[in-house]
Amino acid sequence: MMLRITKKLFTDLAIWMIGFGLLNGILFPIFAYGLGIEAEQVFTVTFWAATITAGLITGIINYALAMLVVKPRLKILADHMHIVESTISDANFTGNWSNCSADICRVEADSDDEIGESARAFNDLVEALFRAHKIETAVNDFSKTLSSQLELDILSKQALDLFLQYTDAMAGAILIESSGELTISAHHGITDSQYLINSDHIRKAQRTHQCQRILFPENIKIEALLASFNPREIIVIPLEFKNISLGVIVLAANKIFDKDVTRMLQLFRHSFGLALNNALAHSNLQRIAALDVLTGAYNRRFGLTRLKEEFNRAIRSDTSLGIIMMDIDHFKSVNDTYGHMVGDRVLGQIAESTYRALREGDVLIRYGGEEFLILLPGASCANSLQLGERIRRLIAESTVQDGEQSINFTASLGITAFPENNVEGELELVKHADDALYTAKHQGRNQVVLVQNNFKT
Ligand code: GH3
Ligand code: MG
Ligand code: MG
Repeated sequence: MMLRITKKLFTDLAIWMIGFGLLNGILFPIFAYGLGIEAEQVFTVTFWAATITAGLITGIINYALAMLVVKPRLKILADHMHIVESTISDANFTGNWSNCSADICRVEADSDDEIGESARAFNDLVEALFRAHKIETAVNDFSKTLSSQLELDILSKQALDLFLQYTDAMAGAILIESSGELTISAHHGITDSQYLINSDHIRKAQRTHQCQRILFPENIKIEALLASFNPREIIVIPLEFKNISLGVIVLAANKIFDKDVTRMLQLFRHSFGLALNNALAHSNLQRIAALDVLTGAYNRRFGLTRLKEEFNRAIRSDTSLGIIMMDIDHFKSVNDTYGHMVGDRVLGQIAESTYRALREGDVLIRYGGEEFLILLPGASCANSLQLGERIRRLIAESTVQDGEQSINFTASLGITAFPENNVEGELELVKHADDALYTAKHQGRNQVVLVQNNFKT
C-alpha cells in the first residue's frame, strides 16, 4: 500500500514517481563511482545536474504514462456512475425508465485487471439495480391491478394476463377451488383445459402447498394440453390465503423459467392469493344476499332485477322470454296437517323438482311464501308450456316423508312468453302469468295454463 501524502491519489503518485526519479538522479553518480568510474568524472556539477534531470524526466514520463493509461478508464467509470445516478434520480420523479437499461448504462470492461474488474462489478451492480426496479414495477403493477378487482372472472383473467406478461410463459390457466372441486376461471393457449383438472401434478401442488416444476425433453408435444408450442417447462403454483387452498396457477413456457421469474412468481402468488380471497368472499356475500336459504332459489329482490335484465336482453337481442308463475296447491292444509317444518321440506322438494327440469340459464325465483317465478330465456310459449308441464309432473310425482307417512302435493302454473305476448314491460308479463295461474287454480289446480296474446288456451 502506497503511503498517502495528499488527499489526491494522482498527486501522491506524481510525488512518489518524480521523487524517486530525483532520488535516482541524486544517487546515480555514487553508484557510478561504486562501479569504478573516476571520481573527477562523476562528482562534477554538470554530471550531477545531468543525472538529476534525467531522473526527473523519467519520473515525469512515468507519471504521465500512468495518467494516460489509468486515468481515462477511471474517468469513464466515474462518468458512467454519474450518468446512471442522474438518470435514476430523474426516472424516480418522471417515472420514465426508458433511458435506464443495463445496455445503455454499462461500461466497457476491456482489461483483465482490477480496473476491468471494477467495470465488471459496476455493470453487475447496474444490472441488479434495473432488475430490482423491474421486479418492483411488476409487483406494484400486479398488486395495483388486482387489489381493486372483486369480480372473480375479471380478476382471474387480468391476473393470468399479467402472469403471461411478466414471465416467459406462453400459455396458462387459473383454476379456482370451491367446495373441494377445481373449476377453470381463466385460460390462454390451452387446448383441453379440462385435462388440467385431472392432472396429478395439480393435485400434488394443492396437497403439498408446494410449487411443482415439470421439465420436458425438447421436441415433445403435449397435444391434449397446449395449442401452439412444445413446452420445456410447466410450473404449477398453488394459491392460498392463510394456508387455505384457493386454487392453482398453471404456466407453460417453451424454455426453462429463469430464477428471477420463479422468485417473482412467489411474490405474485401472495398478492394474488389475497386478491382472490377478497373476490371469493365478495362473491359469497353476493350469493348469500341474492339467495333464499330454504330453496336455494333467488330471493324476490334479486329475482326482480334478473327479470328486468332478461326482459331487456330479450328485446335487445330479439329473442323470446318465457315466464312461469307457480303456486303450491292447498299448501295451507299441508302446514295445518303436518306442521310448518314439513311444509318447509315440501317447499325445498318443490324447488328441487323444478331445478331438475330447468336448463342452464333458466332462473328460479322464490317470489312469495309458496310462490315461484321461473324465467326461461329463449323459450317461446310452446317451449314454456312443455317445460311447465314437465315441472308440474315432477312435482306431482315427488313425495316428502313424515315418519311413515308419504306426503303428496301438487302445484298450479300460469305461463306466458314475450314477444308472442307482446307486453310493454316485464311486470305486465308477470301479471299475465299470474292471471293464468289464477285460472289454473280456478279450473281445479295441478295444471298449467298458458296466456298467449292475452287469450288463455
Ligand atoms: P291454493 O291452492 O289456493 O294456493 O291454496 P294455499 O293453501 O296454497 O294458498 P294460501 O295462499 O291460502 O296459503 C299459502 C300458505 O303458504 C300460507 C302460509 O302458511 C304458507 N307458507 C308461506 N310461506 C311459507 C313457508 O316459508 N313455509 C311454510 N311452511 N309455509 C309457508
Ligand atoms: Mg299463494
Ligand atoms: Mg298456494
